[in-house]
Amino acid sequence: MLKIEINGIVQGVGFRPFVYKTAIELDLKGYVLNSTSGIEIEACGTEKNLELFVERIKKEHPPAAFIREFHIEKKDDVPCTEFTIQQSRNRKGSTQISPDLAVCEDCAKELFDKSDPRFNYAFINCTNCGPRYSIIENTPYDRPVTSMKNFDMCDYCNSEYTDPLNRRFHAQPIACPTCGPQLKFLDRNFEEITGDPISNTIKFLKDGKIIGIKGIGGFHIACDATNCETVSELRKRKDRPHKPFAVICHPEKISEVVEINEEQFELLKSPAAPIVILPKKESSSIQNNVAPQNPNMGVFLPYTPIHHQILSNELPYLIMTSGNFHDEPIAAEEKELSGLCGFFLTHNRPILNRSDDSVIRASKPQNVMMRRSRGYVPSPIKLPFKTVQTLGAGAELKITFALSKHDSFFLSPYIGNSNSKQTLDFYTDTLEKYKKWFELEPELVVCDLHPDYMTTRFAESTGLPLKKVQHHHAHIAAVMAEHHLDEPVIGIAYDGTGYGTDGTIWGGEIFLADYAKFERLFHLNYMPLPGGDAAIKHPIRIAYAYLLESGIDPGFLKNISDIEKRIISKQIENKFNIFQTSSMGRLFDCVAAMLGLFPEITFEAQSAMALEFLSGEKCISSRVNYPYNLAEDTIDIIPLIRAVANDVQRKEPLHKIAEKFHSTIINFTLDAVKKAHRKTGIKKVVLSGGVMQNKVLLEGISKVLTKNNFTVFVPSILPPNDGSISVGQVVIGNGKLEIRNLKKEKICV
Ligand code: ZN
Ligand code: ZN
Ligand code: FE
Repeated sequence: MLKIEINGIVQGVGFRPFVYKTAIELDLKGYVLNSTSGIEIEACGTEKNLELFVERIKKEHPPAAFIREFHIEKKDDVPCTEFTIQQSRNRKGSTQISPDLAVCEDCAKELFDKSDPRFNYAFINCTNCGPRYSIIENTPYDRPVTSMKNFDMCDYCNSEYTDPLNRRFHAQPIACPTCGPQLKFLDRNFEEITGDPISNTIKFLKDGKIIGIKGIGGFHIACDATNCETVSELRKRKDRPHKPFAVICHPEKISEVVEINEEQFELLKSPAAPIVILPKKESSSIQNNVAPQNPNMGVFLPYTPIHHQILSNELPYLIMTSGNFHDEPIAAEEKELSGLCGFFLTHNRPILNRSDDSVIRASKPQNVMMRRSRGYVPSPIKLPFKTVQTLGAGAELKITFALSKHDSFFLSPYIGNSNSKQTLDFYTDTLEKYKKWFELEPELVVCDLHPDYMTTRFAESTGLPLKKVQHHHAHIAAVMAEHHLDEPVIGIAYDGTGYGTDGTIWGGEIFLADYAKFERLFHLNYMPLPGGDAAIKHPIRIAYAYLLESGIDPGFLKNISDIEKRIISKQIENKFNIFQTSSMGRLFDCVAAMLGLFPEITFEAQSAMALEFLSGEKCISSRVNYPYNLAEDTIDIIPLIRAVANDVQRKEPLHKIAEKFHSTIINFTLDAVKKAHRKTGIKKVVLSGGVMQNKVLLEGISKVLTKNNFTVFVPSILPPNDGSISVGQVVIGNGKLEIRNLKKEKICV
């Protein structure tokens, strides 16, 4: 007899019926059950069939399942006459919650099958698909502790729910038109409009209206992406002049609007169904103002039955953007979106746990997770070592928290991008839920060094033992943890803003780092940031200050007022309200503004992105450089700024300047890393930080370092941006490794 224990994402994904069916086919006797730590199986049969059984479980398990650990033990046979699915057994261990799953192919087929009882039913699901995380109130996952508890199953659903051979056996959100949730179509005043809600939605979308649609992890705001006026109306209402919108595409039509390969199509179709950022096609029918001045576009495929019902050949492309006001958390109820939408497609199944769509950027050699949320959370991620139960509080932008237990951590969904009360409420509320679900009580809290972050203040208010961690150390440690590195690395953090140990603003950093400590090997030289955060929104002011500091007459800059000039000059002269920064993000802002790209920005990194797009990918192999100085511990960028200013005044083509600028960064990074290697002997290099979202830079630096025999580690399943700071905080808080004493063992190559 074999006793098998499996853990991972194995509950609520059709694992038991699959095991049951397989056991019956192989004429095995025994049982399968859900334990608190996963799945438990005992099986008797011929040796050959038992072997096949194990093989088939590993190979053919349900698509949404993820096996993390698989234990097999041989035991003496106990007499049994059949194979059964037994009652769940509670035992100490860690319960896991499945992320929400995109509609499976079987359900999508039934949705359009006129003879099916769930024909055209917007809440069709089965054990392979449907909502999970978003409907859970408590664990273990069972219908009475989900938002389905108020819907009594009808006899038909119940017969499927209790039939071990049915695809809906123990599918907790099982429902049909007789017993399940119902759609409603409302006007802007939340009054119901009669008629079929789906037909109404389609009609008004075609008519150019903006509609709030209740999704899985929250509301989307939807409108026709081929209608220019509607898109600009949406921009006005959302107060979002330029930031790109994501577009949901009919699966058969997606290749008409973006460059896509088979692997990327599979990723879009996967149970997590993320938004994937892909290159736009020139001749697409999608309006330019969907992702203005951007060669890429975020696209996704239908992942709920409603998406399948709405999209068609006549309505193949819809903007579906998070239902929220500017950087606030996503809405779970239509009332929160008052004033934004003309109509609402909503229903009576509450969203208990919100999560935004996840975003992945297609990239080489690996895709990069830009936002890890719906479809991925709250799956645990394994750490390289055991931790005490720890809360990583996160940063200020792209807020997440991470909670660790033993050798894994649970990452929160994307919480928000502001320090408002709504964001804090969502944060604390989700934290309390995670603690309850995963039976976790932090013994240690780790936060950013920045004294004014909302997450820092929250961490301080917990009264728990507290550690504060430097922002860029956390960036690097998060990537080390993702790759389970167990020795010191050369860590490159190119970022916008992070509080330094000397009270200045860091962001262009090359560290020698492990999980316990870091040493700052190189940084960009300090430049003056006039007025701190206000300048970040006005890159032209950064250019003005950087030019003054570089001894260049900034007279050639356009788009800056005389008042601004006077104030900045005074500030620099009197050293008043001037912050010192080594930020790479600000260097991008400065150069972009010199080129006249975006003197004022409306979303984070807008001008840096414009510079990236201008450059294209040619510069990766380019050896043409602007000058720079690599001193003892600084990368002096003043010669670079002077040379760019010179090129701008000589009216060099902008794309050439952008290319040369990128290639200069790639080259000085290589130079600095080589120097760092000579000092430390280390060949492993980690890349991280918000600026590493720049594809040209990330791919370019990876390429030249690899060519020079360095082993490069880039973020892939965790974001390079502040969304993974919480993870870095957790591992540093538990850091075990020590940096080698460099003075004693200076290795020269
Ligand atoms: Zn299904
Ligand atoms: Zn029913
Ligand atoms: Fe950062």
